[in-house]
Amino acid sequence: MDGEKTPCFGAVLLGAGNSTRMGGEKSKVLESLGGKPVLAWSLQVLGECPWVGEVVLVCREEDRPAVEALAGSCPVPVQVVAGGAQRQDSVARGVEALSPRWEYLLIHDGARPLVTREVTDAVCRDAMAFGAATAAVPSKDTCKLGDEEGFVESTPPRERLWAVQTPQAFQRELYQRALSLAREAGQSYTDDCQLVEAAGCRVKLTQGDYRNLKLTTPEDRLAARAYTKGERTMRVGYGYDVHRLVEGRKLILAGVEIPFEKGLLGHSDADVVAHAVADALLGAAALGDIGHLFPDTDPQYQGADSLALLGEVCRVLREKGFSLGNLDVTLMAQRPKIAPYILEMRENLGKACGLPVERVSVKATTEEGLGFTGSGEGMSAAAVCLVEET
Ligand code: MG
Repeated sequence: MDGEKTPCFGAVLLGAGNSTRMGGEKSKVLESLGGKPVLAWSLQVLGECPWVGEVVLVCREEDRPAVEALAGSCPVPVQVVAGGAQRQDSVARGVEALSPRWEYLLIHDGARPLVTREVTDAVCRDAMAFGAATAAVPSKDTCKLGDEEGFVESTPPRERLWAVQTPQAFQRELYQRALSLAREAGQSYTDDCQLVEAAGCRVKLTQGDYRNLKLTTPEDRLAARAYTKGERTMRVGYGYDVHRLVEGRKLILAGVEIPFEKGLLGHSDADVVAHAVADALLGAAALGDIGHLFPDTDPQYQGADSLALLGEVCRVLREKGFSLGNLDVTLMAQRPKIAPYILEMRENLGKACGLPVERVSVKATTEEGLGFTGSGEGMSAAAVCLVEET
């Protein structure tokens, strides 16, 4: 911690809004950005701000377990409280939960993950100097005031227009007084500065950052991903599988039924290629292996279509915030000849994983008559893949 800075701010981090404009059911603050939840980005910045001594996370009740899981990584004490009906109520609940010892409040919207330490620090300093401050950037666009019929009413001078962001910071007593006045007047504001402005207080406009965007519509997500590209990581995965060859079973490799006198033995369809690929993908994401996800003791996977299981693995990975890069799999088998089926195998794997066929490689080799694959006792497959955190 910075030696000259004694914490005097309690921070309220808001993640309680609904995500309707983002087009998803999942709370947008819990979506993955650069490999971690959106909310985790600003929690880290607030937690590391030397002025901040405590953080209260305000979230939807149903998100509480996921939000509580984030709290452990924060260097200052964190509480999680449920939000209210309106933004103003959510902030007030967060403020009530803060220890009374903080003289100042720092309020930040969890849907602004790209806030920087510099902006947070500057807003805190201005709040201490002027009582109230907000991060803001000069408007790049000319803005119009519209009338109710959709026509321009007037054009405010652009050089005086600022787009307001968060964090915003206030002397606590000033904020409390403004909140009481708003409640008495039956007013609910969507911006905390507006609340203190209505109580007659001046608010300092602190230079924010154009990258400190608010995730509101799907294109904001694309922009945030572009900004965090340098922080994203690629991961490789490796998978290996073996099945015994027996009589009386179909031989299914990457979903292709191949005419042969024997087939692979297993609880599912024993598709050794699909299994190796699934394990490579799960390995890249450190999510265990296919046997863990679909236990062979579970009767519902008896004779299961392994390509469908592979599709399910890909769905889990995408849900965890990974996107697939490419696959490369090698089948070790003495007989039959695999070459005529390679393209169909690649197409099947590509379909199951949502990858174009050019990013799916399947190769086959004999092992020169050596070992269990060489003797025809079984087949093995090894796969590698690349995935990216999104
Ligand atoms: Mg297997």
